[in-house]
Amino acid sequence: MKIYSYGKQDISQEEIDAVVGVLNSDTLTQGPKIKEFESAICEYTGATYCVVLTNATAGLHLSMLALDVAAGDEVITTPTTFMASANCVGYAGGTVKFADIDPETANISVCEIKRQITSKTKAIIPVHYAGQSCDMEAIHDLGQKHGFYIVEDAAHAIGSDYKNAKVGSCAHSDMTVFSFHPVKNITTGEGGAVTTNSRELYERLLLLRSHGIVKNDSQLTCAHGKWHYEMHRPGFNYRMTELQAALGLSQLKRIGKFKEKRRHIVSLYEKLFSKDSRISFLEERDYSNACFHLWPALIDFKNLKIDKKKFFDQLWKAGLHLQVHYVPVHWFSYYRNLGFSRGDFPKAEMYYEQTVSLPLYPSLSDDEVGYISKTFLMALNNV
Ligand SMILES: *Cc1c(COP(=O)(O)O)cnc(C)c1O
Repeated sequence: MKIYSYGKQDISQEEIDAVVGVLNSDTLTQGPKIKEFESAICEYTGATYCVVLTNATAGLHLSMLALDVAAGDEVITTPTTFMASANCVGYAGGTVKFADIDPETANISVCEIKRQITSKTKAIIPVHYAGQSCDMEAIHDLGQKHGFYIVEDAAHAIGSDYKNAKVGSCAHSDMTVFSFHPVKNITTGEGGAVTTNSRELYERLLLLRSHGIVKNDSQLTCAHGKWHYEMHRPGFNYRMTELQAALGLSQLKRIGKFKEKRRHIVSLYEKLFSKDSRISFLEERDYSNACFHLWPALIDFKNLKIDKKKFFDQLWKAGLHLQVHYVPVHWFSYYRNLGFSRGDFPKAEMYYEQTVSLPLYPSLSDDEVGYISKTFLMALNNV
């Protein structure tokens, strides 16, 4: 029996050759492929600067440090996300606040952000859920008015457009963070990137990526000789390897094709489920042209008196190893211990109850999407 999960990488022979090429070269890390990949991401997104990293979690961590988030600062994000979007605030010593979602898009609601802003709000981390951009102009306007920074968590959204610009252009933010985990839109095995248009933020990210080490003559405080280096701020080792960068470079070339295929599969699901009133989908706003990372089906299990747990057991038995994105972050014991409770963000909680992510990745054929849809409906009818 073939197993279908919600996401999966697509690796070509050209990509395998690119990685083998690096293995046969003299440089496995800190070489030319990193710079090439960073330039390619800049060219693709329209951002001025890019720093590639070990993963998106590292990117979120460094973005908070680059903004000097510290004790006493508040940072607002959404509860409907992977926990890394919230955890990064704590890494820097800041306090996480959540703003509830707009249930039509599952993205952070601008009205709900307004309710969470205080004099301590230092930054906002909007997450482009499922690949659809948040309402960035509205969030940027709020940022201008209240004086906070904006870091886009675009882990789902490389390839997506917001109002004729690519997500990652940072037209309405200070930094954008991408993930290249194998389930995401393009992969480097593990990997991430931060884009920015600020030279100052770029230099801070570079410094923090590699131990805080300074080697450039212009940055050194004294000149000993060629061997000399200094450390100005304790950084980390969040460096991506050359192998990963070579893979990423090749994947980025195919992102247009991936996007087309992902949107095609989404339109097939919409057609195949259109006659079943029990199933609905998220809406795509006019400002968005998403490279969809997820395609969640929404089912009101409670009202329909369908046991979601039994439904999932049936799906898994039939080879559909599906997932739910996401358990609301404030439900985790760590956040409950910080004072959050069930009931705090009812729209995110209702969304969690209703959502099931359907398989969505480029190698799925039309026939497979048909088979998955049929199997899904059969399980729904059988519980
Ligand atoms: C996957 C993901 C991350 C973390 O990405 P890694 O590259 O695995 O660190 C962060 N935020 C969101 C919304 C994600 O989906």
